[in-house]
Amino acid sequence: MRTMRFRTRLLLSFWIILIPGLCAPAWYIFQSLKTDIIHEATANAFTELDFIGWLLEKNPEFEDNLALDKWCKELATHLNYRITVIAAGGRVLADSEIDSRTIPELDNHADREEIIGARKFGQASSIRYSETLGKNLIYAAKNINYPISPSGVLRVAIPLSLVESRLENFSHQFWGLLLAIFASSTILSLILAQKLETPIRSIIQAATDIGEGDFSRRLEFEIETGTEFSPLVRCINDMAGKIGQNIDMITAQKQELEAVLEGMQEGVMLLDKEGRIKAVNSALTGITKCLPNCVGRRPMEIFLNTEIQSACDKILGEKVHMRLKAAMHNDRVYEVNLVKIPEDGAVVVFHDISEMIRLEKVRQDFVANVSHELRSPLTSIKGYAETLQNPAFRASDQAGEFLNIIVKNADHMSRIVADLLELTKLQQKNSQPEQFSVFNAAACLRFATETCMPISEEKNIHIHNFLDASVLVQGDEFALTQVFRNLLDNAIRHSPPGSSITVSSKEESDMVVFAVEDEGTGIPRQHLQRIFERFYRVDKERSRASGGTGLGLAICRNAVRKMGGDIWAESPPENRTKGSVFYFSLKKNKDL
Ligand code: ADP
Repeated sequence: MRTMRFRTRLLLSFWIILIPGLCAPAWYIFQSLKTDIIHEATANAFTELDFIGWLLEKNPEFEDNLALDKWCKELATHLNYRITVIAAGGRVLADSEIDSRTIPELDNHADREEIIGARKFGQASSIRYSETLGKNLIYAAKNINYPISPSGVLRVAIPLSLVESRLENFSHQFWGLLLAIFASSTILSLILAQKLETPIRSIIQAATDIGEGDFSRRLEFEIETGTEFSPLVRCINDMAGKIGQNIDMITAQKQELEAVLEGMQEGVMLLDKEGRIKAVNSALTGITKCLPNCVGRRPMEIFLNTEIQSACDKILGEKVHMRLKAAMHNDRVYEVNLVKIPEDGAVVVFHDISEMIRLEKVRQDFVANVSHELRSPLTSIKGYAETLQNPAFRASDQAGEFLNIIVKNADHMSRIVADLLELTKLQQKNSQPEQFSVFNAAACLRFATETCMPISEEKNIHIHNFLDASVLVQGDEFALTQVFRNLLDNAIRHSPPGSSITVSSKEESDMVVFAVEDEGTGIPRQHLQRIFERFYRVDKERSRASGGTGLGLAICRNAVRKMGGDIWAESPPENRTKGSVFYFSLKKNKDL
């Protein structure tokens, strides 16, 4: 039944109602009609029987049975009835339908139903099959006083087929009517089904289109579907609108999420419930170098790291949040955060903390270096000061010498603190955009040379200035003066008395490269890269003894880089056997 088409079901329903509804009354009418017709036919037969009996009794007596039979046959042709006269004992005397010669051979009729009835009640009828004529007949019989006493029986009969033909007519009409009703009900049900199926088909088509993603699809009210379906049409249209809105919202959210993920510097990886990689962002490329092929694989295959794999296994188990540090094969260290997504796997975020670790180490080294640098002069000051606490020693000749050492160490500490402050200042300025000016580099060198004059003259060192007086550079005038002063100070301190220092410059594309060259001790090759680090010295004791803090070149590097240039050293200078040359570059006055 469920697989039947709607129109078939409708048709069957029609028939289930119509067949019993029509057949039951028709059968009842048929039966009533049959009874009425038979009653009417029997009543007519009795009327005829009375009439024939009256005629027979009024008739003069017949010569013999043959004359009686002849009379019956003649009368029967007018009345259209079978007329039979039966003697009291049941012998047939005359019969309008039987050949006169065979009448004597007929069976005794005393046992016939209507004859028995007539004998008993005076008259009777029956409907039965006539063995004599071989067909169904309606019989009516009554006692008569003719022809002999005791009285015989007069019987008339008409074929039941006459009655049946009337019934047959009726049944033909009935079946015709039934057929017409069936035909019209079939057509009606088909039309109705068509009328119902058309809107249903429209609704199904619309629902299919919406299901396939056409959320702009709408059904026309009443035109396509008829008013009965208006609520359903309204629901489908509302549903399509809402689904469309939701899909738009989800798409927008998805795009936002993708943009956020792509914009993140952290690598992000989504795991499904089975622990396989579902999605990754492009920041993960630097870590895995596997995009886009890592989707569908296990973290172990990608990261080759058992810690990460076991953390992923745990987060897909009972853990909700996990954090670990992992060193990757790209020599970087990541903080890995894992968060469970209930019923849907987990999200893993890789945050690169290598720089943070490096800075932390730099900070620790710096604190250790500063402490170390300050400890020596402090220890010295404390030692000599404690000695001087002794009044006897204070009066000795050495007291003055000890005080000089204390002052010298205090000066040294003061220089360290001053240089540290200067370095910190430069590093702070590095983080802010600078407003640079244009100035003459030669003026800065002149000022620096004048500052260094006392120590250069003390060592009889001559400073040669080969700078072009018109060299204009971009930067901070004060910073450049400090760079020149530090480099000259170093050159003087590490040069033998009587030697000379040369300062020159040359233009290279949009930069000016300055060179400060001395004829001093020089710097071993392995130290050349590191002398710009804070507190780095080639010979610590010698540097301290000559008043160095180990911060001069670090200050120079910070100042030069701040102005957009670079600094480096060569030792010995090209085509020379001793001494060193310090180069630094600055931007030319081109853009200003
Ligand atoms: P310091 O205050 O000790 O001179 P710097 O940072 O200025 O610290 O220099 C770092 C180290 O580089 C010095 O200790 C020294 O060993 C070396 N150095 C710097 N300039 C020269 C130079 N002109 N000749 C030889 N060695 C130098």
